[in-house]
Amino acid sequence: MEMKEITQERIEALRAGHKVLAEFHYEPRPVERGYAGKTLYVNVSTNTIGAKPVDERMKRTFIGGRGFDLWLLWNAVKSDTRWDSPENEIVIASGPLGGIVQYPGTGKSIAVTISPLTGIPVDSNVGGYFGPLLKFSGFDALEVQGIADREVIVFIDGNAGLVQIMEAPEESVNSHILAEEIVALFGQTPQEKQGVSSVSSGVGAEHTLIGCLNFSFYDPRRKLTRLKQAGRGGIGTVLRKKKIKALVVKYVGVKGDSNHPTDLETIQQVGAKMHREIYERDPIMFTMRLDGTNHLTKIMNDYDILPVHNFRYGSHPEAEKIYSPHFQKYFVYDAPDGCWYGCTLACAKFAAGLELRTGPYKGQTVTVDGPEYETVAGIGANCGIWDAHAVLEANFYCDAYGIDTISFGTAMAFAMECYEEGILTPEITGGLKLNFGNADAMLEALHQMSRGEGFGVIIGQGVRRMKQIFVERYGADPQFLQDIGMEAKGLEYSEYVTKESLAQQGGYGLANKGPQHDEAWLIFMDAVNNQIPTFEDKAEALHYFPMWRTWFGLNGLCKLPWNDVEPADNRTRYKGIEAAKVPEHVENYVRLFRAMTGRDDVQSGADLIRMSEAVYNFQRIFNLKMGSGTREHDAIPYRSVGPVTDAEYESRAERYDQQLRELVGVDPSGMTTAEKRQALRRYREAQYEKLIDAVYKRRGWNERGIPTLEKVRELGIDFPEVVALIEAHTQKGT
Ligand code: SF4
Repeated sequence: MEMKEITQERIEALRAGHKVLAEFHYEPRPVERGYAGKTLYVNVSTNTIGAKPVDERMKRTFIGGRGFDLWLLWNAVKSDTRWDSPENEIVIASGPLGGIVQYPGTGKSIAVTISPLTGIPVDSNVGGYFGPLLKFSGFDALEVQGIADREVIVFIDGNAGLVQIMEAPEESVNSHILAEEIVALFGQTPQEKQGVSSVSSGVGAEHTLIGCLNFSFYDPRRKLTRLKQAGRGGIGTVLRKKKIKALVVKYVGVKGDSNHPTDLETIQQVGAKMHREIYERDPIMFTMRLDGTNHLTKIMNDYDILPVHNFRYGSHPEAEKIYSPHFQKYFVYDAPDGCWYGCTLACAKFAAGLELRTGPYKGQTVTVDGPEYETVAGIGANCGIWDAHAVLEANFYCDAYGIDTISFGTAMAFAMECYEEGILTPEITGGLKLNFGNADAMLEALHQMSRGEGFGVIIGQGVRRMKQIFVERYGADPQFLQDIGMEAKGLEYSEYVTKESLAQQGGYGLANKGPQHDEAWLIFMDAVNNQIPTFEDKAEALHYFPMWRTWFGLNGLCKLPWNDVEPADNRTRYKGIEAAKVPEHVENYVRLFRAMTGRDDVQSGADLIRMSEAVYNFQRIFNLKMGSGTREHDAIPYRSVGPVTDAEYESRAERYDQQLRELVGVDPSGMTTAEKRQALRRYREAQYEKLIDAVYKRRGWNERGIPTLEKVRELGIDFPEVVALIEAHTQKGT
């Protein structure tokens, strides 16, 4: 990201520090039908390295990716394992379809750990080359356990069949420099550099609980290293706790048939069809190739669901200042920007020429990967910062310091509202004037996170811990903070306003890892198009779509080519929720999966959903194992359900008054705004509980939200520990 040469002298100095602490040799074997057949285990406490077999049951039950991650993590941790316990792991996997180069969106890695924010497993889906290169090196997953007593790098050489744990005292910690150093250290030619990928974090991750992982890939046209983020849940904080500077894989020689699929021809055919569709449809649909995901900011503002001022409102007159055109001037369009070979949807935008105005790299001109919609909405709109440069600068520093932009944006917006409400004062914040719109204060708080000092460190603990601190130390009203603090299960909300979409409230509240939109995004279907009006419809959508989206994570796939481009006749051939499934693309994935693995028993989309259901239910039970996973943990803050303050009510008074009349059966005339808010609140909170009942029933869970024994048997996940857990909780009635 920083366009500075790394000198030979520097490389020698880095190398001089590389004392090998442990070494493991293996015989590299080709991947067969999408699987390497082994996983790699590394323990940085004991300096041990080993390989574990992947058997047929593991493949059938967990498929790959997030499924493999969860299974390996489940076997590694106990119910009292905490994020900073040595036995906690970071597990990273691709999946059986990962690394295909003929179909778009196949380069994803899925990272899982016990989260510092939630205490339960968090999964994060990320681009960059690490997952596929790991698989082609001979491993379907990498699990890293232990806490090192000094700074280390784990290095996997997939061509040589060598894994090393080595001391790394000299390398930088911040990812934008470290990733370049890693490429310079382990790749000589452009081809070799492309074969190197690292996973790292940054100094901000050390002082906060919202650290992210940066996954790298080398961009030979721009001659620099790019970064994609596994943002959610504080995985970067876990990496730095383990004193790992980087996980590095090197594999040179990716080919069109590196996965050795059963039927390469079908994969090529399905891929060619999809590429044509993208070229024809993207320019007239979502312009992902031009704008990346930030094309959404305008759409969200237009539909009143862009989070503004800590999710109080859904739109703002100044939002136009952070629409795509204001970032296009930074984007470089000299090459398509896919985050893995063959992704013609190419949404991984590349911003160049950003001159930094603050922080330790002030004055440098840098490049940024992004910004994604979530970053623009979280740091921009949600904090009231209508300044593209400031958003991009915060994006750069979040990545460099290893901070999740979503948690950062939502936590910052919460702190800003507390400041505006007088709960926080300049005395408490050390002089930071955290008013909405104060970009300088936002950036300074971010730099404080990197330095481990000041009020920024408190913000970096996340919304749940801030609530506790503000109540205990500053006498804040706990109910008010509970209402406005946008977290569930301990994870900060991603960036959509859900007040007018009951289904999306459930999409966030019921998500296994906490409120992240990658599990269910139903706002348009629900609130805009009114396609799922009944509780049963919503429950069906909250069954199908989370399962479907889970499937991408099992296979090393990106979900964007599924529904961010659609066949021209999708909306005429199919209606409503069926159209939202994009059936022709589902069929593509059925064909790809069969062609890769040779599994002829997989015939339809329903077979794919069943794969996800097993893993999804297993993750729910994993939550149970960690002391969560029951109904009370699916509660959500009232701001995601309805208006907390009079000002919020008044901003949509007509709509709310009408609901009181037509749905609640109350005449609002003559009532104060506060009385109307209370009446609406009672109604909306009851609706949410009814929705939960309907979804639990549809998913085969009991009224406490626990999968039934019948369900886990049906899904083939009735392992003794799973059965014992369910029985214990059912008997206790907890
Ligand atoms: S669509 Fe975007 S995020 Fe998905 S694989 Fe392609 S470039 Fe990466």
